[in-house]
Amino acid sequence: MACITGGCLCGRVRYEVERDGAIVDYCHCDTCRRSTGGATVAWMQVRPDRFRVTAGEAVAYASSEKMVRHFCAACGSQLYMTDVEARSVGVTVGTLDDKEAVAPAAHGWDGDRPRWLCLADGLPRFAADPSYDG
Ligand SMILES: [Zn+2]
Ligand SMILES: [Zn+2]
Repeated sequence: MACITGGCLCGRVRYEVERDGAIVDYCHCDTCRRSTGGATVAWMQVRPDRFRVTAGEAVAYASSEKMVRHFCAACGSQLYMTDVEARSVGVTVGTLDDKEAVAPAAHGWDGDRPRWLCLADGLPRFAADPSYDG
């Protein structure tokens, strides 16, 4: 098992995640942008049993009826997202210790992307939820 590690800005909350079978993509949706304050968010999606918090505890915020976002209460870093059906855990690629550990392979919610953000990487684009999200 290839585990990679990550954590929040202040270091109180730490996690590890197994990269095998992970789906990595950008989400350009308005909710991701506003909840992080960033131009876009890269997510690494894994099965729930492939993600563990190893130190500290994140606080939860339900950003929709189905999705819950988890933050460090001390520094505000958004670390991961879960869904009420426990189908997957999404880890923010920006909180991985090694920023080169994984790379996005698609753009989700491209229809919400601000027009000034141009990533000419040739990756597949989905106007809303990517087809692999089901
Ligand atoms: Zn923190
Ligand atoms: Zn999103």
